[in-house]
Amino acid sequence: MGKRLPIFPYINFSEANLMIEITTFAFMIDQGTIERIMDAADIVETVQDFVVLKRRGVNYLGNCPFHNEKTPSFTVSPAKQIYKCFGCGKGGGSVNFIMEHEHLSYVDALRYLAKKFHVEIVEKEEDPADAEQRNRRESMLIVSDFARDYFSNYLLNEPEGRNIGLSYFRERGMRDDIIRKFQLGFCPDHKDQFTRAALKQGYRMEFLEETGLSIKRDDWIRDRFAGRVIFPFHNLAGRVIAFGGRILVSDPKQAKYLNSPESEIYHKSKVLYGIFYAKNAISRSDKCYLVEGYTDVLSMHQAGIENVVASSGTSLTVEQIRLIKRFTSNITIIYDGDQAGIKASLRGIDMVLEEGVNVKVVPLPDGEDPDSFARSMSATDLLAYINAHETDFIRFKTRMLLNESENDPVVKARLIIDVVKSIAVIPDNITRSVYIKECSKMLDVAEDILYTEVRKIKYKITEEQIVREKREALRESTQSSQRPVSVPLAANPCVTEEKALLRIMLRYFNNDLFKVENEETGQEEMVKVGSYVLSELEADNLSSVDPVIQLIFDELREHEHESLFNPERHFVQHENTQVSSLVSGLLVDKHIESVIWKRKGAFVEDEHEILFVIVPKLIEEYKLRHVKLLISALMGKISGLSSSDMEKILEYQAVITNLKRVEKELSKKLGRRAITS
Ligand SMILES: [Zn+2]
Repeated sequence: MGKRLPIFPYINFSEANLMIEITTFAFMIDQGTIERIMDAADIVETVQDFVVLKRRGVNYLGNCPFHNEKTPSFTVSPAKQIYKCFGCGKGGGSVNFIMEHEHLSYVDALRYLAKKFHVEIVEKEEDPADAEQRNRRESMLIVSDFARDYFSNYLLNEPEGRNIGLSYFRERGMRDDIIRKFQLGFCPDHKDQFTRAALKQGYRMEFLEETGLSIKRDDWIRDRFAGRVIFPFHNLAGRVIAFGGRILVSDPKQAKYLNSPESEIYHKSKVLYGIFYAKNAISRSDKCYLVEGYTDVLSMHQAGIENVVASSGTSLTVEQIRLIKRFTSNITIIYDGDQAGIKASLRGIDMVLEEGVNVKVVPLPDGEDPDSFARSMSATDLLAYINAHETDFIRFKTRMLLNESENDPVVKARLIIDVVKSIAVIPDNITRSVYIKECSKMLDVAEDILYTEVRKIKYKITEEQIVREKREALRESTQSSQRPVSVPLAANPCVTEEKALLRIMLRYFNNDLFKVENEETGQEEMVKVGSYVLSELEADNLSSVDPVIQLIFDELREHEHESLFNPERHFVQHENTQVSSLVSGLLVDKHIESVIWKRKGAFVEDEHEILFVIVPKLIEEYKLRHVKLLISALMGKISGLSSSDMEKILEYQAVITNLKRVEKELSKKLGRRAITS
C-alpha cells in the first residue's frame, strides 16, 4: 500500500457547517494514460453501445437509459463530448456515462473505455493489496472472459471438445461462423479441470465461486458445467455475464439445461439472450422477435434473421420488455406450436401491452419450435411464413380462447373478460378503441359493454399501480446509489449567479480578460478569466452553500495556474457524478446566461468577444445577491431581539447601513436603481 493518493481530502465548509465526503480511491492508472483514454473515448461511440441515437442537428437524441421515457430527451453532443438527459438530469462525459450505466467505479470505467478504444493502459506498479481493492464486479467479468475463452478453445481445439461438443453442434446443422460468433464452448467432463486451469492462471477461487463457474464444498471442488456445451450470455456492451450449459447425455439426475446462478453481474430477469448481437438489427428493422430458447436465437441468426432475442430461463419479465423497448416498440412473439408454448405466449402478452409496446404473435405449426422450424427452410421462406402468419394479439387470443369455449355461454363470458383484461392494460387510448371495435365484431358483443368492462378493469389497475409505485419509491429511496455528498440545508439562493459564473469559467478559464496594473511592479499584466473570478471570490470571501458548486470552485483554484488545464473536460469526466451532471447541464443549457442577461435587456452575440464586460458584471451580480441576503438575514436577527438587546441591535444596524451603501454602489454599477426598503 502506501501509494494510495486521496484526490480530495475531507473538505469542511465551516460556514454552512456542511461536510462533503468524497470517496478516496487508489490511483492506479498513470495520468498520461487517463488523458489518452479521455481523448480517445468518443461520447457518441460510447453511448451508442447502449442507446439508439438519432441525429438531430448538431446533436444526437435517444431514449434515456437511466429513466423510463416515451419521448426522447437524452441528448449527446459530439462537439462538447457530453451527454445530458433533460428528463432525469443525468449528464457527463464518456467516463461518467460508463460509471453510471455499468455501475463501475471511476478507475474501472477508465479501464472499460481503454479496452473499447484500444488505449494501452500504463499502470503505476500495482502491489497485490491494490489488486485486491479492484472492483469485485470487474473481477467477476474478467473471470467470465477467461471461462469463455477456455470453453471456446476447448470446443474448437481439444479432442474431447471436438468429438462431443463440436460434433453435437454440427449434427444440429450449426455453421462454424455462428458457433464462433456466439462464442459457444464446451466444458471438459473431468470434475474440476476448468477450475484448476483457472487457478493456475492466477484467477481466484472467490470469483470462480461467485460467478458460479465452480462449486466448492469444503475441500471438494467441481466445475458447474462439466460435460456440457456452453452458451455465453452477453450484456448490451458484449461482456460475458453468465453461461448456459446443455448436457449431451441423457441422465435423469441432471437438468438438461443449466444456467449460471444469480450474481453481482447476472440478474436473470434483466437479461435477454442474444441482445448484444440483435440490438442493431432490432433498431434497424424497428422490430424484435422474441423466442424461448438460445438455440432458437442461433438458428434464426443462421437463417439470416438477426433481430431476435430469447427470454431464456425465465418467463418474460417487465425489465426484459423495457430492454427491448430501448430499441423498438414492436415485438413479435414466436413460440412453440404446442399447448405449453401457446399458454406461455398468452402470459407474456399482457405484460408487453402494458409497456405500451405493439405485440404480434406468430403461432408455429403443431410440434415445431423456432429452432427446428428455422432449420427446416430457407431464410426467405422463414420470413415469408412469419409475415404471413403474424397475428395481432387480440385475434390470436380470441381465436385461441374461442376454440376452447366451443360456444359454452359461461366459458364465453369468461373469455370476454379475459380479452378485455388484455385490452385494458394498453396505455394508448386510440389503440385501445381500435381493439375494442375488433373484439366486438369477433365476439359478437356490443362495443359499449366492452367499454364499461375496460373502465372497470382500468380503475382496478390504477389502484394497484399506485400501491406498487409507492412501494417502489420507498425502496429506491432507501437504496440510492449516490455517493455521500451532503444536501444543502436549504435551497441555494445564489444558484442562478453561481451557475452563470461556473459556466463562464468552464468555457473561458484560460481566456485573456483585460490588463491590470500589478501593484508591486507597476507593470500592466494580462489577467485570465479564471484568475479574475477566483480572486474576486477570494477577496470578498464568497462561497457557495451548495457543496457540489463549492467543490468545483475549489478545484478550479487548485488548477488556476495550469495553462493546459481544460476545465470542461476535467469536470465533465469527474469521478463525482453529481459534479459531472451539474457541469454537463451548464454546458448544454442556454437558459442560464439568458436569465442573467434578460434582466438587463442586453443580448449576447459573441460572448467571448465581450468577456471584459460580462465577467465583471457576473461578479457584481453575485456580490449584489450576497449583500441582499446578508441584509435580510441581519434584519431577521434584529426582529428577533428585544429592546434590552439595544447594543446588539445598534451593532447590526451599523452593519446594515454599511451593506446598503455597498448595495447601492453595486446596483449603480449594474445600471439599476437600488431597491430601498
Ligand atoms: Zn433520463
